[in-house]
Amino acid sequence: MKKKFAVVGYGGMGSWHVNHSLKSDVLELSGIYDIDDKKSELARERGIRAYSSLDELINDKDVELVTVAIPNDVHLDTVCRLLKGGKNVICEKPVALSTRELEIMVATAKEAGKLFTVHQNRRWDVDYLAIQSICDSGEIGKPLRIESRIHGSRGIPSDWRGMKEYGGGMILDWGVHLIDQLMLVFKDEKIATVNCVETHITNKEVDDGFYLTITFESGAVAFVEVGTYNFLTLPRFYMKSENGTALIQDWREKTKVAKCKYWHENDVLPVQTAAGLTKTMAPRDSITMDVYEKDIPLSDVHDFYRNVCKAIDGKENQLVTHEQVALVLKIMEHAFESSRQGQTIKFEY
Ligand code: NAD
Repeated sequence: MKKKFAVVGYGGMGSWHVNHSLKSDVLELSGIYDIDDKKSELARERGIRAYSSLDELINDKDVELVTVAIPNDVHLDTVCRLLKGGKNVICEKPVALSTRELEIMVATAKEAGKLFTVHQNRRWDVDYLAIQSICDSGEIGKPLRIESRIHGSRGIPSDWRGMKEYGGGMILDWGVHLIDQLMLVFKDEKIATVNCVETHITNKEVDDGFYLTITFESGAVAFVEVGTYNFLTLPRFYMKSENGTALIQDWREKTKVAKCKYWHENDVLPVQTAAGLTKTMAPRDSITMDVYEKDIPLSDVHDFYRNVCKAIDGKENQLVTHEQVALVLKIMEHAFESSRQGQTIKFEY
């Protein structure tokens, strides 16, 4: 049976959840609640029930699951009120502005005996899934360095995302997704250090982009870059592994893989450049290296809600766990601190 479902916040992402639920095989939309009357009116015009208060939503005993899609600074209060009111809760990312806030949410969920998880929907992005599957298959060995980038050219949005008090900034907005993805790829590694440099080209108050380097005890490196002032873009993913390289140019494109077959080469033809020649940087030929494309993996983002509904019924473990979101939050806290100090800092678990 479908679960009765409601959404708090009927802005950009709240509308996405509403539209998604209307196509879902596990959810039945009961309604929305938004603090802004105009948003409630918009919902009613579409034939969607708009609760007049959060308490009215909480008192609707039919509603089993609620997704919270409101600005980042108000997640804590709304999530806890819903959990205490007996609802299972999904919170939008970033779940909280500090580890302390997350601890309160998790403790409240445990006390209420309700499911609480976070909408880390970019785990269903095919670019990330392609990198994960190459690592899982071991076809080019263990990753030594993964670079994950998102580049835009419109600056940080001019809404609450540009303001510190609402939890704005790109580390919290996009960083949370890209760090989450890489922590799943490097799930068996221990973090040694974190270095982060923020950019403030279009916004002085919050970061409008950043360069984040996470170094693991093994020596492997996860690098995340988000830019909102990039009029030409670098590849979405670049992965250097023990036996090859993988590259994804754009998030909807196939992965190009170069796999080293033989390390030694007999005759290397030097490349002639305008001012000299080089053997070191000459490309390999097909005798020692295979180059191929991988098909785009299959992905169904409805699997997120399917998992949540099964987890509520005790039939599956929730995919996005408290430990995973806590780790990502801790990395972001280290990133802010590294940026503030202007240096690399040791990671404290
Ligand atoms: P938005 O500004 O478009 O919408 C926020 C809505 O929340 C507004 O309609 C506002 O009136 C309402 N609101 C504010 N405070 C409220 C409260 N206390 N109670 C009820 N309603 C309230 O913002 P958005 O882009 O939809 O972002 C909302 C959340 O979703 C943020 O946490 C953001 O990081 C997240 N988000 C996630 C993704 C993703 O891909 N997972 C994408 C975009 C945004």
